Amino acid sequence: MNERLPPIVIIGGGLAGVFCALKLAPLPVAIIAPAPVGDSGASRWAQGGIAAAVEEGDTPESHASDTVAAGAGLVDYDIALGMAREARARVEELAAMGAPFDRNDQGFFAPSREAAHSRNRVVRVKGDSAGRAIMETLRQQIIRTSSIEYLEGFAAQEIVVRNGRVRGVHVRDKHGNSRFIPSAALVLATGGLGHLYRITTNPLDARGVGVAIAARAGAIIADAEFVQFHPTAMDIDVDPAPLATEALRGEGATIIDRNGHRFLLDVDVAAELAPRDIVARAVFASIRAGRGAYLDARHSIGASFPERFPTVYGSCRNVGLDPVVSPIPIAPAAHYHMGGVWTNANGRSSLEGLWAIGEVAATGVHGANRLASNSLLEAVVFAARAASDIRTTDLSVVGASEPAPPASVGWIDEDLGVIEELRDLMSANVGVTRDAAGLAGALGQLRRLRARAGDIEILNMLTTSTLIAAAAFARRESRGAHFRSDHPVADPTQAQRSRMTLDMALRIADEAQP
Ligand SMILES: Cc1cc2nc3c(=O)[nH]c(=O)nc-3n(C[C@H](O)[C@H](O)[C@H](O)COP(=O)(O)OP(=O)(O)OC[C@H]3O[C@@H](n4cnc5c(N)ncnc54)[C@H](O)[C@@H]3O)c2cc1C
Repeated sequence: MNERLPPIVIIGGGLAGVFCALKLAPLPVAIIAPAPVGDSGASRWAQGGIAAAVEEGDTPESHASDTVAAGAGLVDYDIALGMAREARARVEELAAMGAPFDRNDQGFFAPSREAAHSRNRVVRVKGDSAGRAIMETLRQQIIRTSSIEYLEGFAAQEIVVRNGRVRGVHVRDKHGNSRFIPSAALVLATGGLGHLYRITTNPLDARGVGVAIAARAGAIIADAEFVQFHPTAMDIDVDPAPLATEALRGEGATIIDRNGHRFLLDVDVAAELAPRDIVARAVFASIRAGRGAYLDARHSIGASFPERFPTVYGSCRNVGLDPVVSPIPIAPAAHYHMGGVWTNANGRSSLEGLWAIGEVAATGVHGANRLASNSLLEAVVFAARAASDIRTTDLSVVGASEPAPPASVGWIDEDLGVIEELRDLMSANVGVTRDAAGLAGALGQLRRLRARAGDIEILNMLTTSTLIAAAAFARRESRGAHFRSDHPVADPTQAQRSRMTLDMALRIADEAQP
C-alpha cells in the first residue's frame, strides 16, 4: 500500500462509494474495499433497477408521495422530494458514463413498474441486469480516473476520533495485519447488514460494520430497528439465499405449507399478492409453527418454468430441485436496512469529518419501509451531495499516526461459532416478528457474546446487532417493517424516527434485563 494516501478516504467499493469518488475527481481520493472494484457489495446484485420519474407525465412530487406512503409515516418529505428531483439528473449522468439503460424506439428511457410505485418508474438494464451493468460502467470509469487510488484487500475496523474530529480509520488485511489510514474526510459507504441474520439475500460483506464503527466512535444511529425482509427467498441451504422473484407470485404461484394448505388466504384477501411485510410474517409464522412454507408453481407455471424464470430455475437445479414438479422451500430473508448512520441532507454524520452514503446511511428517505428501487437512487444522489459538501471542507487537517487497535487477534474457530450463534439469535428474536421477551433475551445474549468476542470484526457485528435490538425493544408499536406481536398496531404518538448512540443502546439493553 502507498505510504502517502490522499486526505479523502472512502470505505466501500459499491455504487455509493465509487460514485462519490468519481464526483470528487479530480480531487485525489482513496477507496478502501475488501475486493476489486465492482466485485463486492450488493450494488452489482440489484436486479430491478433505479427509480426515477423519467416517464412522460410522471413527476418528482408523485415519486416522493409514493416514497412517503411506503415509509409508514416516518419519511422526511423534504429529503424524499429532493432525492426524487435529482433522480433524472443522476440517471442521465450514469447513462452518459455508459450505463446501457433500456430505451424505447425513440431513444427515451423505458422504465417499468414495481410494487407500490404509481407509475412506470424503474429504469432497468436488459430486464434484470441493472446492478451488474451500472457497476461495470463505473469500474471502467474508475480505471480511467487517475485521481482515484483503489486499495483492495482491506476492511475498516475502527474509526479514530481526536479532539472531537474524525482523524482516520484502522483497516485490516485478510491476514489480520492492521494499519492506520489518516483522513481529513472519511466517507462510509459500507452497504447493508443482512449477514447478521441466518437467512439473507445480501452478499457476505454486508455485516453492518459501517454502522458499528460509526457508533463506537460516538455517531448517532437512526432508524436501526427497520430491517426489510424479502418474503420469498429460497430456503435451500445456499448462503446468501437466492430470491424467488415476486414475479412468480404475479404469475399465479401460490404459497402453501407442508400439508398443501394455502395459508395466506387466511391472512389477507390479496393472499400471495399482499404487501411484502404481511407475506413475510405469514411465511415466518408457518415455519415457526413447524408447518414450513413452499412456493408452488407446479400448476400456474409448470413446464414453462425453465424458459420463463431461468435464474430461479438454475438455483433450484443446482440443489437438485425441480420446480416444475416440486414446490420450492422458502423463508423470509433479511434484504435491506432502512436505518443506519444518521446524516443530514448532504450525507454528513453527527461526527465532524465523517460522512455516510448508500445503504449504511439513514438519510430519512426510507422511513419504516423502503420503496422498491429507491436504494440505488439514494446511493447516487447522496454520494453526489456528499462529494459537493466535502469540496467545501478544510482538507488540511489530517490525522497523525496511531497505534493499532488492540482487539485484532482472535480465536477464529470459536469466532465462527459466535457468528453462527449471532445469526440464529437475530433471525429468531430480532427478525420478522418481535416481542419484548424475545428482544430482552436477545439483548442479554448479545451482551454475553460481546464479553467473549476476541475479534474486532465480531465485536462490530455484535455492536450493530445490539443497536437494532435496542431500537426494536424501545419501539413499542408496529410500523412498516418493524412488527411487535405484543404491540401489533401503529401508535401515532410514536410516529417519529429513532435516534440513538451506542451508549443509549447499551443502557436500553441493561434496563431490558429482568
Ligand atoms: C439481491 C438484491 C437485489 C436488489 N435489487 C435492488 C434493485 O433492483 N434496486 C435498488 O434500488 N436496490 C436493490 N437492492 C438494494 C441495493 O442493491 C443496495 O441497497 C445498494 O446497492 C447499496 O449500495 P452501497 O454502495 O451502499 O453498498 P454496496 O453495494 O453493498 O457496497 C458496500 C461496499 O462496502 C464494502 N465493505 C463492507 N464492509 C466493509 C468494511 N468493513 N471495510 C471496507 N469495505 C467494506 C463492501 O465490500 C462493498 O464494496 C438489492 C439488494 C439485493 C441484495
